[in-house]
Amino acid sequence: MNARLQKLIDTAKAAWNAEQASGRVRVRVTLDTSSIARGAEETLARLREAAASRKIDADVGITGSWGFCWMEPCVTVRSAAGTHAVLYGNITPDRVDDLIAAIAAGRDLPELAIGVIEGNATPEIPLLEDHPFMKGQVRRLMANLGRTDPENIDHYLAHGGYEGFGKALEMEPEAIIKEVLDSGLGGRGGGGFPTGRKWDFLRNATASPRYLVCNADEGDPGAWVNRILLEGDPHLVIEGMLIAALASHADEGYIYIRYEYPLAFERMQKAVAQAYERGLLGKDILGTGKNFDLIVFLGAGSYVCGEETGLINSIDSYRGMPRIKPPFPAQAGLWNKPTNVNNVESYANAPLILRHGARWWSSVSDVKEKGTKMFTFSGHVKQAGCIEIPFGPKVRTLLEQYAGGLSGDLPLKGFQPGGPLSGVLPASDIDLPLTLDPYRERGMFLGSGGVVFFDQSACIVDLCLFFLGFCEDESCGRCTTCHGGTQRAVEILRRIQAGGGRDADLENFERLIGTLVWSNCLHGQFAMTSIKTSLKTFRDEYEEHIVDKVCRAGVCKGLMPGRWARKTAAPVAAAAD
Ligand code: SF4
Repeated sequence: MNARLQKLIDTAKAAWNAEQASGRVRVRVTLDTSSIARGAEETLARLREAAASRKIDADVGITGSWGFCWMEPCVTVRSAAGTHAVLYGNITPDRVDDLIAAIAAGRDLPELAIGVIEGNATPEIPLLEDHPFMKGQVRRLMANLGRTDPENIDHYLAHGGYEGFGKALEMEPEAIIKEVLDSGLGGRGGGGFPTGRKWDFLRNATASPRYLVCNADEGDPGAWVNRILLEGDPHLVIEGMLIAALASHADEGYIYIRYEYPLAFERMQKAVAQAYERGLLGKDILGTGKNFDLIVFLGAGSYVCGEETGLINSIDSYRGMPRIKPPFPAQAGLWNKPTNVNNVESYANAPLILRHGARWWSSVSDVKEKGTKMFTFSGHVKQAGCIEIPFGPKVRTLLEQYAGGLSGDLPLKGFQPGGPLSGVLPASDIDLPLTLDPYRERGMFLGSGGVVFFDQSACIVDLCLFFLGFCEDESCGRCTTCHGGTQRAVEILRRIQAGGGRDADLENFERLIGTLVWSNCLHGQFAMTSIKTSLKTFRDEYEEHIVDKVCRAGVCKGLMPGRWARKTAAPVAAAAD
């Protein structure tokens, strides 16, 4: 291990251990975008005030998300002796007084407890690991979330941080790439292309300088996997990029964060500044003679900048339009120089592979896709949250175990596996595994991990209008097939909703499906996937809209409501059924 890095790690561990042995109660509030939306900043401020006014010797700080997004703000309380720690949920500002009273009395608050993190379960509070939400999870990328302060580099260093980079420093680039290839790590943006091969393309490029880009433009509605990582453990991404830079001889890197993630941008900026301060970035890194600069870049709010060449154009100060390929970024990317683009989760896995070895990393999964994957889930579910599991479980597990089932009493109608381009599947596909191939075989894809469930109160025409409207809004305008095609699809869907459906509409959808696949980038090529996939399994519902002028969900205002319309719908519902 590089001596300077070892010193950083030793100092950080000593500081962490001293903190643990301080004899102070430690209170940690989850502070991320989800919890802030539920008042976490006020919870934090009130906890500090209340602890001070009651003269409780407490160390009140922040941490990343545990993934219990539906129970934010979450708060961890660790006893002064350090032998008992409990995770609480729903600690909204109005509940702070109850929690502080319990801390002052040296007792737990079982009514708000989620589980015991450290120490023994109590008669009223089970162990957190026995919580249904935690069972089956293998939290590697999320290991620090809920435990360390994302704004403190020493917390990261004290928990194995930068050890993978330390190992990579002692390896040849070819050996690093071999380790990543042996692990089986595939691109986590949905493509699954071997990450090691992408790094090798860059390594073999002849031009210089060479660039690395981290695609943190997570724009799929229903996906916030990357945000959880960027906000909760930013150094994991930096370390992954450092390892990729060593492997591919890259000179400079960019972390491209979507405009709608201001907290992620702020945290990444802080983390990058800390890494520079410690000599982990910049010139002559840790005295090794190696150089790597890292810039955090805020996008401008365009969905197609999630496409790698659109993103590159955006950094290049051009309009965020996907380029025509070839040339591919590995040959001519940023400023027409060789560039590698990876997803946040892809980079974040690299430190774990280098630290623990490829065999350890891949052993968790017995399907083709190796390692773990983070998923978020939302829609008509009881619990919207984020988990990390090995590839392979069924979508049903995601819904029933992790999302707690459907929120209402209506049956499941279907789900969208990964964003507005991924398509929709019916409830009968709920036993599909969470791996890549089953979706590819259906002409769709699993995406970056945001699964949205919908019950029978959703109308398939209305859902597709939302997805197509999104694609129309976000089309960059380069291809007539894409910008004109999505407009035509939206017009037809709107007309069907208003009661003006025509016999030729479904045929015209088929024509549009055949036309849009000729678009330049995935945005246009997959824009019609929601209609294409729903025509296969929800065709009768389209026909009801067009021929019978009935919307079974009672959503389309120009049509008669049908059998799944909510009770508040017009009395004509029963007749229409
Ligand atoms: Fe732009 Fe759509 Fe063409 Fe992609 S397919 S380049 S988003 S117009």
